[in-house]
Amino acid sequence: MAVHKSLVIHVCAPHNGIMNHTSAADIVIVGGGLAGALCALTLASVGARCIVLEKSRFEDLVTRDRRTTAINSGAVPLLQELGVWDSMVSGAGSIRRIEILSDGARCTFDDALHDLRPFGYIVDNVVWRQILRDAIDQHPLIRWVDGAGVTGLTMETTGITAVDTAGQSWRAQLLIAADGRESPVRALAGMDVHRHVYPESAMVGIVRHAQPHHETAFEIFLPTGPLALLPLKDPHVSSFVWTEPTDHVAARLQGEEDLFLKALSAQFGGYLGDMALLGRPQAWPLTRILASRYVQDRVVLLGDAAHAIHPIAGQGFNLTMRDFVALRRALQPRLNVGLPLKEGLSAYNRLRQVDARVMAEATHVLNAVFLSSGMLPVAVRRVGLTALNRLPFLKKPFVRHATGVSRLAQLGL
Ligand SMILES: Cc1cc2nc3c(=O)[nH]c(=O)nc-3n(C[C@H](O)[C@H](O)[C@H](O)COP(=O)(O)OP(=O)(O)OC[C@H]3O[C@@H](n4cnc5c(N)ncnc54)[C@H](O)[C@@H]3O)c2cc1C
Repeated sequence: MAVHKSLVIHVCAPHNGIMNHTSAADIVIVGGGLAGALCALTLASVGARCIVLEKSRFEDLVTRDRRTTAINSGAVPLLQELGVWDSMVSGAGSIRRIEILSDGARCTFDDALHDLRPFGYIVDNVVWRQILRDAIDQHPLIRWVDGAGVTGLTMETTGITAVDTAGQSWRAQLLIAADGRESPVRALAGMDVHRHVYPESAMVGIVRHAQPHHETAFEIFLPTGPLALLPLKDPHVSSFVWTEPTDHVAARLQGEEDLFLKALSAQFGGYLGDMALLGRPQAWPLTRILASRYVQDRVVLLGDAAHAIHPIAGQGFNLTMRDFVALRRALQPRLNVGLPLKEGLSAYNRLRQVDARVMAEATHVLNAVFLSSGMLPVAVRRVGLTALNRLPFLKKPFVRHATGVSRLAQLGL
């Protein structure tokens, strides 16, 4: 565990016979997932003293997530500034070519459309979590606490106190809920959500393939859902995200590994030759969640606690990175002069909701368009993809949007 640095500790009344403490900081972040960890580094970079409370042990967190994350090139400046980019990029795959395949049509994007720079990078979540944790452990303004599941909140005139399962109290000016799509803090604060449960789930895993990927990401739209193959650092290894109806997914994952691999290779159309699974695949149920507000009194929602979207375009965490930038922008001037942090969050509340709704709707519609069967939708998709492939001037704005460059530029990064 990190050494407890410049954070204040008060001794409090005993709880269940155990002497407990109240620890104080500028900001308490509940949830040590990718959002909570990176948020702590972003806010500490402008002088905020942060405590991260995570209910699970770090070793469990790392091993239970077999996903990879596609990071837009637009997010790289933030990661560079936080000092984590060099470690990340040394193990990440780069995307220099994107192949979209549907209904026999094909559309190719190559890095000539992006000044010969990668469109984005694929990072293994296991590696990413460890890099962020190491950076946090070395940061003088952040304290990470494992095994601290928050179960209660108390709002006060000058601050907010969270209480965890061990009866420990944690006080700050602001409390950031980065505790995932089912966010217990959001529920404790009584903040509403709009929820849509997709009838599909995503299977994720890693495969070794006979042919090199040449830094190509494949997105194949199948009648039962999209299948993405994403290039990792090793030219013969890619991760996959394969979405199918939830009952198919359960049956596939309970069946023999050989059968799973055969089905995956068949759906993939043999583009990269023979495949072998590296580890057991995992299923992730898919839900779209949009909180009806992101700020309430001293509670701020961020990451999946604020917005969880369909992974079809790999944009969920990229959206979250824009939350960090917007929140830092709102808090930095107040941290500089010691003003209360609670004020000045209305722009964050308003603007981040707009961005999340647009992205949630776009991914929802994209999924629906590619799932529709029937002659007309199939013909429209085929003609649309073929036309997009032949018209480079249409591809450029698409690339700017998908790489997130334009959106982060709007936030001043
Ligand atoms: C299949 C799939 C593929 C994806 N691929 C991509 C991609 O390629 N690119 C991309 O940008 N995004 C992608 N996403 C989205 C991205 O993975 C998520 O947005 C991101 O992981 C969410 O991180 P989070 O930290 O907000 O939430 P979580 O990862 O859910 O973390 C929440 C944390 O809070 C902790 N917690 C919960 N309750 C408490 C409590 N009471 N007290 C303390 N701690 C608590 C939990 O233990 C957990 O560690 C994908 C999503 C899915 C499902």
